Amino acid sequence: MSPRSVLRYVRWHLALNTEPDAEPLTYAMECTMCGERGPASEDAKAARAWVFEHVKAPENRLHMTYREHITRPWTAMPGPPAPASSPTTPPLSAAPTEAS
Ligand SMILES: [Zn+2]
Repeated sequence: MSPRSVLRYVRWHLALNTEPDAEPLTYAMECTMCGERGPASEDAKAARAWVFEHVKAPENRLHMTYREHITRPWTAMPGPPAPASSPTTPPLSAAPTEAS
């Protein structure tokens, strides 16, 4: 008897990675005038505090526009998204999904 392979098509979905070992969601601010960037932080308020430190320097007095960088961990998984009632699925507003 010879070995036999069984193939099937599987749809994948994309969701925010909320596993305990996932990378943290982080925030960082960047000055659009000079490109300097503050440290990334899991606390958005702390990340934004860097702006006031940056603009306080005499050479940065006219640096008034900034860009916020938000980094969120995502995961691609085979199969349909977990049902909304699953304890591993965060609320829809916090976990947008995209079907493949
Ligand atoms: Zn600047």
